[in-house]
Amino acid sequence: MTTKDRQLPNLGGYFGQFGGKFVPETLIPALNELKQAYAETITDSDFQQQFLQLCRRYIGRPTPLYPAQQLSAKIGGATILLKREDLTHTGAHKINNALGQGLLAKYMGKTRIIAETGAGQHGVAVATVCAMLNLNCIVYMGEDDIKRQSSNVLKMKLLGAEVRPVSSGSRTLKDAINETIRDWVSNVHNTYYLLGSVVGPHPYPMIVRNFQSVIGQETKEQVRAMYHRLPDYLIACVGGGSNAIGLFHPFFNEKSVKFIGVEAAGQGLESNQHAASLIAGKVGVLHGAKSYLLQDRNGQILTTHSIAPGLDYPGVGPEHSYYTDIGRATYVAVTDTQALEGFRLLCSTEGIIPALEPAHAIYYTAKLATDLPQEQLIVINLSGRGDKDLEIACQAIGMES
Ligand SMILES: *Cc1c(COP(=O)(O)O)cnc(C)c1O
Repeated sequence: MTTKDRQLPNLGGYFGQFGGKFVPETLIPALNELKQAYAETITDSDFQQQFLQLCRRYIGRPTPLYPAQQLSAKIGGATILLKREDLTHTGAHKINNALGQGLLAKYMGKTRIIAETGAGQHGVAVATVCAMLNLNCIVYMGEDDIKRQSSNVLKMKLLGAEVRPVSSGSRTLKDAINETIRDWVSNVHNTYYLLGSVVGPHPYPMIVRNFQSVIGQETKEQVRAMYHRLPDYLIACVGGGSNAIGLFHPFFNEKSVKFIGVEAAGQGLESNQHAASLIAGKVGVLHGAKSYLLQDRNGQILTTHSIAPGLDYPGVGPEHSYYTDIGRATYVAVTDTQALEGFRLLCSTEGIIPALEPAHAIYYTAKLATDLPQEQLIVINLSGRGDKDLEIACQAIGMES
């Protein structure tokens, strides 16, 4: 591992053997245009200043780093700190990336934004930023997901987005992605495809990572200011992997800092009802990039399950596949039932209702922290708040209103 590793992906968009751009020929010019424009914005101080200013004034950054004393005391081991992405505008880390790419689209002179969404969280973040930046917004969403996530659909509509139902295939995220790519191919001249995680073809995994790295940069400063040292563990849930990479990446060269990514074990890894792509997947190509995927022996993508909608995806960002191969990060999996335990634990000890995605990280941390001394510092990325999950969570734990 050298300093160069931190500068990955390489020019071809690879992190080791993972990543790349496996897309139709017609999209290569669009990806090149995106890469060029993004490179310009990195050295454009007006652009950078605008991003940081809106992070402060609109998103509410920096988010607090909260020492969870009651949680730590209850567990009786290491010191646990929560990075409070749940306190951002719209209530999850996704807004960091939506804002960054929204500004990038404007910089490129694109007037029409397209996105795809599963549970609707990314769709809401994109619709929010498009309203604020005065951009046209179209969100593709599977018909089944539209039925299940009516409040997010209402939010998107209120924010001025057009929600286009997708009725093909399984009528869920996978089909919405295909539809969005189809739209992009036909309308590349004025259309920006705003991707929601560190997935897809190069340069998306790099761009999304860099916008989300604001999480890890702040964490580093905050831990230093409070403890005059680096943390020992960084722990985050992994769906596509953007909140985890955003926390991890700024610490890549700090070898004493251990990274743990928590995947969804759903009903259990033996059940085939899970979404643990890194732990149980095989290398393949999905949605434009090479990475670990949940697929059968013939390379057909498997259906996935997690109680947390944001973790319910058969692939994972290529940079995580690279981290696992070089041993820079460790990946573990937590079941639905265990995540619900983590969910209740944080509610009762700290008065914070977490989203079900980071509840996976809370459960794992509680197990890990028990055997560690108090001097050890663990940062959990609390990627979002639980309002969106109240119904599912309360139903699952048998609580009635
Ligand atoms: C979408 C979502 C996730 C999963 O996405 P990543 O790209 O893996 O971060 C995690 N937590 C919350 C709250 C989400 O909304």
